[in-house]
Amino acid sequence: MMDVRRLLKEFDIQPRKSLGQNFLADQRALERIVEAAELGPGDIVLEIGPGLGTLTRCLAAGAGWVVAIELDQRLVEVLKQTLADLPNVEIIHGDILELNPADLLERQMASFQYKVVSNLPYYITSAVLRHLLTAKVRPKLMIVTVQLEVARRITAEPGDMSLLAVSVQFYGRPRIVARIKASAFYPSPQVDSAVIRIDLDGRPLVEVDDADSFFKVVRAGFAQRRKQLRNALAAELALPASEVAQALSRAGVDPKRRAQTLGIEEWAKVCNEMQSRGISQKD
Ligand code: SAM
Repeated sequence: MMDVRRLLKEFDIQPRKSLGQNFLADQRALERIVEAAELGPGDIVLEIGPGLGTLTRCLAAGAGWVVAIELDQRLVEVLKQTLADLPNVEIIHGDILELNPADLLERQMASFQYKVVSNLPYYITSAVLRHLLTAKVRPKLMIVTVQLEVARRITAEPGDMSLLAVSVQFYGRPRIVARIKASAFYPSPQVDSAVIRIDLDGRPLVEVDDADSFFKVVRAGFAQRRKQLRNALAAELALPASEVAQALSRAGVDPKRRAQTLGIEEWAKVCNEMQSRGISQKD
């Protein structure tokens, strides 16, 4: 269990379940995460939740600069001591959801390019992904460890899509690069995890007139996912079903299909069709 138990004992810290504190204690798993990040001395890394600093130390060995955001003040104190020998690590006490990545990296980001590498606190996985993907300055690559079931949802294909899958796939290409057993963490969670790699190109992968309208339509579709799209969109967006059906047909999508069957390009076509006819803007 590497240093995890020793450090917890030494600093008299009880892991907090409410903060998603399952510390990675397996050398091979750490190596796989770091390998996936393909770090070089020119890289700036944002780590969310450094915990006891085990992953942070590996990241600092490969990257030029690491900024690590930790919410738990007890752990910030530990990190300041255990990582004191690393000149290229900055520890910030705070809640990632309250912070803007561009502000955090300001001092280092001449090129405005950064990578996110994190073993995410599972209770805010979706919120953190949304926060980073919709930030003004998005990362170019994300390597995030999440619960296996969530990893499968994020990387789903048409037939099994969800709002989370569309939200991530709108901005980047996610794929599972490693599976990590629950026993690799201390304390061990109930379920296995997976490492996902999300490559971002800087702009959304599909052309839409406006991302807010795109997500308004997608959210409406998934709000009533058992219903046919024509009815779900009409009900949620307060539009006549006939108009919605026409827009769907023009986009090449059968109005009887359900939200989970649409791929990202199809959503973009639906959204653009609805917008071009001025029918997605009503509240
Ligand atoms: N990186 C460490 C590792 O791999 O062993 C710890 C990962 S642990 C799953 C998640 C970490 O995120 C914990 O240290 C927890 O305190 C921290 N955390 C929880 N909520 C946070 C938030 N909103 N902002 C920043 N850090 C948070």
